[in-house]
Amino acid sequence: AAKQAHKPWSEYNAEQVGSRREQLSLLGELRRAVEQHEMHVFYQPQVSINQGQLVQAEALVRWRHPERGWVPPSAFIPFAEQTGRIRSLTDWLLNEVAQQTTAWRASGQPLTISINVAVHDLEDPDFPKRVAAALRRHDAQPQDLCLEITEGGLMADPEQARATLTALHEAGHRLAIDDFGTGYSSLAYLSHLPVDELKIDRSFIMDLNLHNRSIVLSTISLGHALGLKVVAEGVETGNQYRELALLGCDIAQGYLIAKALPLEEFNAWRHAHPHE
Ligand code: C2E
Ligand code: CA
Ligand code: CA
Ligand code: CA
Repeated sequence: AAKQAHKPWSEYNAEQVGSRREQLSLLGELRRAVEQHEMHVFYQPQVSINQGQLVQAEALVRWRHPERGWVPPSAFIPFAEQTGRIRSLTDWLLNEVAQQTTAWRASGQPLTISINVAVHDLEDPDFPKRVAAALRRHDAQPQDLCLEITEGGLMADPEQARATLTALHEAGHRLAIDDFGTGYSSLAYLSHLPVDELKIDRSFIMDLNLHNRSIVLSTISLGHALGLKVVAEGVETGNQYRELALLGCDIAQGYLIAKALPLEEFNAWRHAHPHE
């Protein structure tokens, strides 16, 4: 498959100029943001649907800009990806999370944390080495790290993606397919990847109509047939949660359980959570 071509600037239309200029200035500032400690890792819990227990959490980056306040990842991640600036952000995140998993282990409460892998990272043959370097640096355990890959990331360069995933799997990490159902990856291709989890995209959970419910059900059946755990994203209501329980989904993540929380609040949530 062909790699996704990066859009040349000339293809953007006039209405987008303002936001493009804003993005450009953000991009310039992105370079310094990590060094100046403006980036923060938030953690969103994932619970087992049967027991309601915390089983893992997803690391989500937040940028606290000195003038703009909190900048959502949607405002800078896609742009950082296109320009390769994502690399230093991913490396920073890997180090932060590796350090944190070691701290949780030391306190007797180990936890698996998942990280979003950008397309750019997945296409980098050195990515598994970058992951290993971060773990070594903080004396972290490979099983405490799960890497989330989108279907889009897999399709950009399937051969490189397979090589990267195989190396990460052999290193002992968990692997998840993120935003599952939004791409076009074939079941045959997926079944040959060393993946541990499927994360059903929020769009299916948001509106569990007859159509979406059958997509969710077949994803769960497929996942289980392949020996995978199935995670539902964007669970906001008790009805959705109960529906997912009936459909046999394994794990839930969403505002019903908790938003992505800063470290102290996440630790407090964990502490207060009765079932853990
Ligand atoms: P994602 O990986 O699909 O992450 C889930 C997004 O859904 C997060 O948005 C999360 O806050 C949001 N979410 C979780 N539960 C609910 C819910 O119940 N309802 C609703 N409406 N939303 C919910 P966030 O943090 O804004 O991140 C957006 C996207 O940005 C992520 O989508 C991911 O693709 C990307 N991203 C975030 N952090 C990172 C990062 O550190 N590295 C990379 N490469 N991408 C990141
Ligand atoms: Ca994700
Ligand atoms: Ca997702
Ligand atoms: Ca998403």
